[in-house]
Amino acid sequence: MSEYVPAIGLEVHVQLKTKSKMFCSCSTDFGAPPNTNICPVCTGQPGVLPTKNKKAIELAIRAGLVLNCKIQKYSLFARKNYFYPDLPKAYQISQYELPISKEGFLMVGDKKIRIIRAHLEEDAGKLLHYIGSTPVDGSLVDLNRCGIPLLEIVSYPDIDSPQMAFDYLKTLRRLLRYAGISDCDMEKGSLRCDCNVSVRKIGEKLGVKTEIKNMNSFKEVKDALTYEIERQTKVLKEGGKIFQETRLWNPKQGKTFAMRRKEEAHDYRYFPDPDLRPIFLSEEMISEQKKQIPELPADRKKRYTEMGLSEYQADVIIDEKELADYFEKVAENSNPCEAANIIITHLLRQINEKNIPYSQIPLNPQNLSELVNLKTDGKITPQIIKRIFPEMFEKNENPKKLLENIEVVSDEGEIKKIVMDAIQKNAQAWNDYKAGNEKASGRIIGFVMKQTEGSADPVKVKKILEELKNENFDS
Ligand code: ZN
Ligand code: MN
Repeated sequence: MSEYVPAIGLEVHVQLKTKSKMFCSCSTDFGAPPNTNICPVCTGQPGVLPTKNKKAIELAIRAGLVLNCKIQKYSLFARKNYFYPDLPKAYQISQYELPISKEGFLMVGDKKIRIIRAHLEEDAGKLLHYIGSTPVDGSLVDLNRCGIPLLEIVSYPDIDSPQMAFDYLKTLRRLLRYAGISDCDMEKGSLRCDCNVSVRKIGEKLGVKTEIKNMNSFKEVKDALTYEIERQTKVLKEGGKIFQETRLWNPKQGKTFAMRRKEEAHDYRYFPDPDLRPIFLSEEMISEQKKQIPELPADRKKRYTEMGLSEYQADVIIDEKELADYFEKVAENSNPCEAANIIITHLLRQINEKNIPYSQIPLNPQNLSELVNLKTDGKITPQIIKRIFPEMFEKNENPKKLLENIEVVSDEGEIKKIVMDAIQKNAQAWNDYKAGNEKASGRIIGFVMKQTEGSADPVKVKKILEELKNENFDS
């Protein structure tokens, strides 16, 4: 075991789910042609005045609440000054000394990760670099993202492994999606994550940290952290020194590279934005957001395990709110455990194979609950479910209708023949079963189902087995 331990803090930017930008009425639509969602305000023309987006402030309050933060009734916008071609004003409007919320926490499994602050700010634009593919090398700037409302959520360095960073991100994303705060879609840039990481010997104070940027997935965050922890540990073990710097993750090489020595907060010359009045929050605004919070994933998980689902099943089902809502509709009219079982084994498989969003599941919950009931009543075997499920899913078909087309062997004489054959070929299982081991019958039934491709009536198979046992039938 390494004698060095990591301390990881994450800075997560999420795009708040608003129709318009933070300080103007431009659309936040993703995928619009470059420089079409822009106006004098978000392109930083002289003489314009920003106005605050009320919806963004409401969502920031809600986020503060679900992150167990103290909501500050008085907070300020500040200018963070720096120059970059994607930032026409040469400053970003952010919050500095007085953020809208601070001092919260997020439970990741049993572990409490403290949150330093969650503050409002605006996004910058995007540079598109053309090198080697165009007659002249160069960069183009797209200002569509300028002024998109963001919430920056900063954690304490309480995370102690790359895996925990991964779990933190998953938990955070799920929470914000459930609460309708953000889509948290990394591919669309509505969630970005920077990592601060340092290593130290156990018992020592925090070491010098580096910041890693440019990860495109939670998996890359985990990989980048794993690499960076190893790199820092190696440097220190060899007597070297870690510099506070920003490093870029290169996923192709699986390495981080130094980009620039880290600037300090004072380099940005923060000062309160004179164009924007402070944010004053009333008790009503805060309690209104409290009311908007739906049942959150952790509470749902608890409720599902109380319904009898296993930890694993509950975790899978709650992962996306839309899936959990779907599950609840199925479980309204059928056994929840069996419903979860069929959803996880069959429904999710179809969804993943066909890449269908949860909001567009073709099979309605009513038809699925009928299938679940057929299963709990012993009227359908797992093999048959497997056979009919793809068609049922695609055509939103009632399972009973599909079963009509499946030849079910229900002639007792015929089943008895097959069962007796199965007993001959599974003599050990038969003797175990006769000796009182109920479970051993499963092996014989399984054999019968294999022989008949699942089309033997399971209730009759079971009945015949019992009769033969009572007759003390000999293999
Ligand atoms: Zn605008
Ligand atoms: Mn930021």
